[in-house]
Amino acid sequence: MATKNIYHRFKYANKHFKRWILPLLFLLLAQQDWAQNNNQIQGSIDEIAVIEQKAAINKVLRSSKNSMLSFASSNFDVHYIVCNWNIDPAIRYIQGNVKFGFTITEKANSITFDLANELLVDSIRYKNNKLSFSRPPNNSVVINLGNSLEKNIKDELTIFYKGIPPAANSPFSTFTNSSHAGVPVMWTLSEPYGGKDWWPCKNGLNDKADSIDISITTPDKYTSSCNGLLIKELIVGGKRTTFWKHRYPIATYLIAIAATNYSIIKDSIQLGNKWLPLMEHAYPERISEFKNAASITKRTMQLLHNTFTPYPFINERYGHTQFGFSGGMEHQTNSFMVNMNETLIVHELAHQWFGNKITCGSWKDIWLNEGFAIFCTNFSTEKFYSETSLLNLYRSQINFITSNKKGTVYVDDTTSVSRIFDSRLTYTKGGWVLQMLRWKLGDDTFFKAVKNYLEDPALAYRYAFTSDLKKHFEITSGKNLDEFFNDWVYGNGYPSYQLRWNALGKSWVNTTLSQTTSDNTVDFFEMPVAIRFKNALRDTTIIIDHQKNGQTNFINIGFIADSAFIDPKLKIISVNNTVVKSQAISNDEDVIMFPNPVKNSFNVLISNLKEGSLQLSLYNSTGQVVWQKRNENFRGAEIYNIPSDKLSSGVYWLSIRKDKEKIIVRRILK
Ligand SMILES: [Zn+2]
Repeated sequence: MATKNIYHRFKYANKHFKRWILPLLFLLLAQQDWAQNNNQIQGSIDEIAVIEQKAAINKVLRSSKNSMLSFASSNFDVHYIVCNWNIDPAIRYIQGNVKFGFTITEKANSITFDLANELLVDSIRYKNNKLSFSRPPNNSVVINLGNSLEKNIKDELTIFYKGIPPAANSPFSTFTNSSHAGVPVMWTLSEPYGGKDWWPCKNGLNDKADSIDISITTPDKYTSSCNGLLIKELIVGGKRTTFWKHRYPIATYLIAIAATNYSIIKDSIQLGNKWLPLMEHAYPERISEFKNAASITKRTMQLLHNTFTPYPFINERYGHTQFGFSGGMEHQTNSFMVNMNETLIVHELAHQWFGNKITCGSWKDIWLNEGFAIFCTNFSTEKFYSETSLLNLYRSQINFITSNKKGTVYVDDTTSVSRIFDSRLTYTKGGWVLQMLRWKLGDDTFFKAVKNYLEDPALAYRYAFTSDLKKHFEITSGKNLDEFFNDWVYGNGYPSYQLRWNALGKSWVNTTLSQTTSDNTVDFFEMPVAIRFKNALRDTTIIIDHQKNGQTNFINIGFIADSAFIDPKLKIISVNNTVVKSQAISNDEDVIMFPNPVKNSFNVLISNLKEGSLQLSLYNSTGQVVWQKRNENFRGAEIYNIPSDKLSSGVYWLSIRKDKEKIIVRRILK
């Protein structure tokens, strides 16, 4: 799911960026001067945030006790679902029946489905009989099976029900009646806990149906939209019925319906040698917006299909359905959209892999859905826009993530819907965790691991936890990622870096890199850190594997640098980084020693000599050798660190002998 407030903090200055981000930003940046004349503004960001929070709180309060959790029983496994629904977009009401094909997983004389208390069950049919049932006040229906059913019995039953779905008719309720251009529209949006508000179901995250068949009947001036393939449409007695089938596993919250006077656009997308049908349901007054966006949908579909794994529902179709929620929702094969903004298109399409093919195994792991969706929107910017646009986007995201020093990507409180869908942590920082894994492991390993994750038969078309994703990155890279996940997924905050550096001789630099962390749950972020060195003519970027504070490195960069920059391409979440340049040490000598006078150790940089054998000897003032090192494979320029902690105070002499010929002597003071 994507809501407007996920994007509102990203301010893109770049002209190219404006071309496609502006339409959504106009909806979002109501407080920005430059947006105030736009008549699409629907409310300030603060209002949107307040409405979202209220909707979330309503959802929590309405559910008795902890009814965030499903009360459906775990003694049966759902195989197929056949739904027949009657609705009228102008009237808040649903009437229908839902048939479940299931297998009993432990001997049972009753099974329980989730269903809002407000909805009335008329009857439950089982083998031509009616079954008795009860309605405990926890939004469920307990069905008495009569005889107990043995484990592994396959069976089916049908629930007939009707009523007014609960909750105020706000834009964020799960079953919404609204209007566009004066025409009634209804839609559903069940994520995360709303399925039971409009149909009997298993509301949790542990049992995908293998297939669904759905019919939706409306007054014939409307048409409806649903998951999967449209099989046929019938008009009888002033009523129009559309029949849909979907033959891939699907989680309850990804099943959705909508109805209004939709205009339908049929198109197709080439994926290899296959043409995937694209079916759009647009409000008639917005049809050109949907037509114009087709090229974005196509190139994004091709990018994700070629980068990760084939489109997960390739035997059916993809499409968008317009609705009035202020954002988008990745209903399987059919994303519901407030508009056709590019970021929203990419976000919801990415969810078809990350969220729908593999669904988060618990709401604690929702970043597996939303983090990947953010990763993919950034990845698409990287592919289709300039580097300046990308870096502007990254900068705004880093500023957003670091606007608070605390908070974990992993959800610590799933009773709070606003925490589950926290745009800073679950979405943006979640996306950056993936980008930082790509930076740490390299493109080949990263994309291979993601592919392996998507193709893992234990996860594909099923559910995954954070540990499942971690396992794939570890297996593919051969690296233990405990530290990385503890720091970035389960830990709080981010680092701020301090770099001290100086030029050494004609081509070397000496760096000392430290970091402070924003929250004490993480004492150090072990990361590769890029440092860019430049002068008027040249520049180069080196990578320091940062493992401890005060870490010193000597690096041959090939020129005399005059300035340095930490993380120039924004690979790491960090802010308030500082760079201090110390005095350059002698630019033209073949031997540079520092510091001098020495303390516990000192460094000798030797350059401009020919390759060959090299001998370093340290003599005290009476001519005795106190330290010696021989290098048969001297490469022409090297740094040596010589211990001096055990030396007593006084004068010493360092002799450097090259191939038994050239002798250089330097005076040292301790
Ligand atoms: Zn999303």
